[in-house]
Amino acid sequence: MAELEGLEFGKSDFVLLDEVIMEQFMENLKLRFEKGRIYTFIGEVVVSVNPYKNMDIYGTEAIEAYRGRELYENPPHLYAVADAAYKAMKRRAKDTCIVISGESGAGKTEASKYIMQYIAAITNPSQRAEVESVKNVLLKSTCVLEAFGNAKTNRNDNSSRFGKYMDINFNFNGEPTGGHINNYLLEKSRVIQQQGGERNFHSFYQVLRGGSNDLLGSLHLEKDPAIYSYTREGAASTTSSNDSSNHKAVLSALKVIGFTAKEIDSIYKILGTILHLGNLEFESDGESVQVVGAQLVNHIAELTRTDPDDVSKTLLYRTVATGGGEVIDKGHSEQEASYGKDAFAKALYERLFGWIVSRINTVIEVKGYNPVLHGKNTVIGVLDIYGFEIFDNNSFEQFCINYCNEKLQQLFIELILRQEQDEYQREGITWQHIEYFNNQIIVDLVEQPHKGIISILDEACLSVGKVTDIICLESMDTKLGQHPHYTSRKLCPTDKSMEFHRDFRIRHYAGDVTYSVEGFLDKNKDPLFQDFKRLMYNSEDPVLKEMWPEGKLRITEVTKRPLTAATLFKNSIIALVDKLACKEPYYVRCIKPNEMKSPVLFDDARCHHQVAYLGLLENVRVRRAGFAYRQPYARFLQRYKMTCEYTWPNHLMATDQEAVKAIIDHHGFQSDVAYGHTKLFVRTPRSLFTLEQERAALI
Ligand code: ADP
Ligand code: MG
Repeated sequence: MAELEGLEFGKSDFVLLDEVIMEQFMENLKLRFEKGRIYTFIGEVVVSVNPYKNMDIYGTEAIEAYRGRELYENPPHLYAVADAAYKAMKRRAKDTCIVISGESGAGKTEASKYIMQYIAAITNPSQRAEVESVKNVLLKSTCVLEAFGNAKTNRNDNSSRFGKYMDINFNFNGEPTGGHINNYLLEKSRVIQQQGGERNFHSFYQVLRGGSNDLLGSLHLEKDPAIYSYTREGAASTTSSNDSSNHKAVLSALKVIGFTAKEIDSIYKILGTILHLGNLEFESDGESVQVVGAQLVNHIAELTRTDPDDVSKTLLYRTVATGGGEVIDKGHSEQEASYGKDAFAKALYERLFGWIVSRINTVIEVKGYNPVLHGKNTVIGVLDIYGFEIFDNNSFEQFCINYCNEKLQQLFIELILRQEQDEYQREGITWQHIEYFNNQIIVDLVEQPHKGIISILDEACLSVGKVTDIICLESMDTKLGQHPHYTSRKLCPTDKSMEFHRDFRIRHYAGDVTYSVEGFLDKNKDPLFQDFKRLMYNSEDPVLKEMWPEGKLRITEVTKRPLTAATLFKNSIIALVDKLACKEPYYVRCIKPNEMKSPVLFDDARCHHQVAYLGLLENVRVRRAGFAYRQPYARFLQRYKMTCEYTWPNHLMATDQEAVKAIIDHHGFQSDVAYGHTKLFVRTPRSLFTLEQERAALI
């Protein structure tokens, strides 16, 4: 039990609430936040509230206090969960994972960094060089991924615009031997456009503001982000950290990780190419379309090591195969050309990001591991992925992100229940099933083959005739109109909050979200003319070429329809869930106290909403419905033996279990406990609370 702090800080575990009702939960959460206690347990789950100020609770001293301790021996902390996951992994050779969830700005990424630092700090005490180098690369990779995958949004100055799952591998000694990073759905639309007050990815501003004159000269770039169409919107707004010094940090991190000078050169050339692409314009003389500004085409050709004529041809024409097997060049309209270059810019960035991740993976992957020689290789996975999003205008991206959260919620339900049930079974204790909302029905609404929303979208994308977003919406309305979690505008014409016939609404577990269907099909199809892929494949730059393997195909060979964006995303999320499901899960549930990034404001309504949709109250109920606490007999005895004359200072019984029974009987708690094979199970927190108070009075 984590009741080491005084009660003036509230209850350090929500399981200790007198009554499991929302009022008490919120009161406790608020009190703790106001007292600077940002972490609270629900059993082994940590609930975290973003403090929006530096807290003096991290670092070497704190790490030492948590190292190797049990959860209830210290106040709630991320370190306690990290240590629990590490101990389970080391003592029981279990693969574990730490799932960090919460909405944008709630503190997930910061939490994941503290957890990584904790794991790095407690491993490899003998400082073996090869282990240190693995740890170093793992830590440095965060800096690089943040530069390329994070951006300033209106909610968070350093918002991760991709999902990240990182596996850390350990040898039988519990030392990190390597790792692997999976990235999910980078928000690439940000490359070409940002909402008012937001920025493009940090990487662009970092190179412009921090790049040396030599580097910028070689990229034909000027320092000012306002010059470039893609970075203009965010040019005036800065983030709390400094772009210029971050550029240097990223450059050094790239080198530490092991990127070669040539590779680093290619990375910056790709960023330069994208900025130049953004400034390209097209004009039509009524007959044909031309690029305005030949200079930019030359820069792009130089940076991508391709031929300027090829570049301009690719920007203005596409090759099409006619019915008779003939191949012809078809000129773009002005609009098509402009659309094509934006799609190209987005794809370039997405490939670059994917390539950086896979390049890091080649460095950190476990090499030469032999299970016979080295023992079982175990894993701790850390998941930091976008939380539920409800914006004023919700599009395809929010649809994907919210679907992902439905999947993770489903996993949370399954694992929390399963984990409890497993433990009771293992210990030989009977338990009663508890009911709560199962969101499987919403998961099905989105992902079911043939009937789900993704299937209907894909069908529309693959059909030969011209299908518009609106036609697709009608098809969804027809097929899903009766679904309890789907609302079509047609069925509720009086609802003014939905614009006529352009949107649909999903009743998510976390709340209702109205999605505007505009752009759905295009984002799902995510088309990029084959000519761009060929251009890149034919580049003299081996890095660029490597990123575009399918550019090898001629237009007549491109027969297979690529999978749509939604299907690719769905497949990656299903694979992720499979990966997590076979591990012992630990959860960090992050809450954002207010929209102002204020360290003192606890916005009751906003917090209430998050607590509700994260299912925290149900979590407490499940934890209490069974047995709120369990402790190995020896530990229980150690802690409470002074509260009973038969066990103090030592007991004379045959087993620890019998001695524990003596303490329980002495206090009259018989009806509140069950005896497992190795642990004592305590149903309500009250009895432990009493023991804890008696103990405190005695010491
Ligand atoms: P998320 O990943 O959930 O979108 P972040 O982890 O990026 O959110 O946190 C957003 C901001 O909140 C951070 O940039 C930082 O300013 C602040 N923050 C989050 N967690 C902490 C913490 N533990 N201590 C201090 N500040 C924090
Ligand atoms: Mg983040």
